[in-house]
Amino acid sequence: MPTAVVTGGAGFLGSHLCEHLLQQGHRVICVDNLESSSLANLEHLRDDAFTFMNHDVIEHIEIDEPVDHVFHLAALASPIDYLRQPLHSLKTGSYGTHHALGLAKWKRARFLLASTSEIYGDPQVHPQPETYWGHVNPIGPRGVYDEAKRYAEALTMAYHNQQGVDTAIVRIFNTYGPRMRAHDGRAIPTFVRQAIENKPLTVFGDGSQSRSFCYVDDLIRGLYLLAVGDEHLPVNLGNPGEYTILELAETVLRVTDSKSEIVFEALPVDDPQVRQPDITRAKQLLGWEPEIDLEEGLRRMLPTMERVHA
Ligand code: UDP
Repeated sequence: MPTAVVTGGAGFLGSHLCEHLLQQGHRVICVDNLESSSLANLEHLRDDAFTFMNHDVIEHIEIDEPVDHVFHLAALASPIDYLRQPLHSLKTGSYGTHHALGLAKWKRARFLLASTSEIYGDPQVHPQPETYWGHVNPIGPRGVYDEAKRYAEALTMAYHNQQGVDTAIVRIFNTYGPRMRAHDGRAIPTFVRQAIENKPLTVFGDGSQSRSFCYVDDLIRGLYLLAVGDEHLPVNLGNPGEYTILELAETVLRVTDSKSEIVFEALPVDDPQVRQPDITRAKQLLGWEPEIDLEEGLRRMLPTMERVHA
């Protein structure tokens, strides 16, 4: 049975990945310090092939058994978390990525870095192909996340080129689905929660900024294909369907059948105006593309959000 280590495995994406790996017949060691995640996300994974390690990746990772894959997802990915702990965000991206890469090197495992569309910053090229270098403000509030991920990409390529580690980099665009925290501050869980509670939906700015939202099952399927493949250069994964935030709010109101109103609030600093993945490479390399559109994904997510508020 192949063994996978998943850092950040108790988080939203990590828990879905652990579940998928178990389904695919892997043994899974989940490494997480529960800073922005929860054991509740793993409760349903009662499986002898699953082990949880409470550990912060900014400290050395010691594992006494063979490992075939290291998935490095640990990060403070939501603005409310990295704005609260900017230094920890930088340390997770730097020390944490060093430790995860060191583990992969030691075990001769394939390493997958969960990078992000944030490395494109406020893009001046649209949609964003992997060849675009980005437009990031290093000293703005998002810099502690964006630059940590950019550093992590540089580090990953250095371990690959200089040390011969088998590495992959996935640039994950906005993803949503069950087990996102209702108060994580992201647009989709916030709007869904507000719609269910019949509270106003808080659109920041005039709502003309765009995002492209990928349902979690689609994302995890692509991530797994990349991990079991042999590509080393970055690959975008996301749903190319692009919506303005105002359109997103209206879609949530329709799907939830809510009578909530929409209110407009101040736009956060350095909020990217557009974002849409060019997934040509993912299609060519992995034969991957998303299958679940926004309305369908929201319908699938809804019952889990309603349970939170029951
Ligand atoms: N947003 C919003 N209202 C909210 C939360 C977010 O209008 O209550 C906007 C936010 O300003 C951004 C977009 O929705 O333009 C997506 O935000 P999110 O935090 O989900 O993701 P990211 O900015 O990291 O893409």
